[in-house]
Amino acid sequence: MDNYIDFHTHKLSTPDGVITVYNQLLHEDAGIPKRYYSAGLHPWYADKLSAAELSRVLDLHGSSPDLIALGETGIDKVCKIPIQLQQDIFELQLNKAVILSKPVIIHCVRAWEEMLEITRHYHIPMILHGYNGSDQLTANLVKRGFFFSIGTMILNPNSRIGHAIQHIPLSSIYCETDESNESIQSVYNAVSGYLKMEEPDFRRNVRGNFARLCKEYEARSF
Ligand SMILES: [Zn+2]
Repeated sequence: MDNYIDFHTHKLSTPDGVITVYNQLLHEDAGIPKRYYSAGLHPWYADKLSAAELSRVLDLHGSSPDLIALGETGIDKVCKIPIQLQQDIFELQLNKAVILSKPVIIHCVRAWEEMLEITRHYHIPMILHGYNGSDQLTANLVKRGFFFSIGTMILNPNSRIGHAIQHIPLSSIYCETDESNESIQSVYNAVSGYLKMEEPDFRRNVRGNFARLCKEYEARSF
C-alpha cells in the first residue's frame, strides 16, 4: 500500500502510513531537523532575518540530505510587511533554490501578477501551496508550469479548487494539511472524488510525482 505524502505541514507528528514534509519557519528555528522538510522565510516574517543571515542559514540547510524544498516563501498582500521587502526575500530564496537545485514552495495571497512576474525567469519546480484558485487562474498557472499542493479548503463543498482541479494535469498535484487538524486522508479522498479516480490510484500518482520532484531521493522507498 502506498504511503500518503503530506507535502506541507507545520505539525511535528507523523501519523502511521504518512510521509510528511515538515515546514520549518526559519525565523523561529534555524536548526536542521532529522526528517524530510522544507525551510524558508515566510513572507509574514520577511523582516525577521536580514538578507545576509537568511542566505547563510539557507546554505546551512542546503547541505542536509533531508531538505526537500525551499519555502514557503512568496508574496502576501494581506499582511503588513512592505511588498518590496517581501519580493526581495522571495527572490533571494528563488536564487538560492537555483544554486541548491531544489524546488520552491510558494505562498501567494492576492499577488498573482507580482508572483508571475518575479518567477518568470526561474526554471525550477515551483509548487503553489494551499492552492484554491479559479478555473481561469488555474489554467494560466498550468501553462506556466506550476505545481499545485491542495489543502483542506477542498473539503469545503463550495471551494474554487473543487472545480478548478480538473484543469490541473495529474502529474502536477500534491496534497497537504498545512496547519489544519483534518487528516491528509480526507484531502486525498476529496481530490480523488473530484477527479473521479479511485483513491489508491490517485495516491500512487502523487507518490510518483513526489519521487520525480525529489529526483535525488528516487532510490529511497517512499
Ligand atoms: Zn504553511
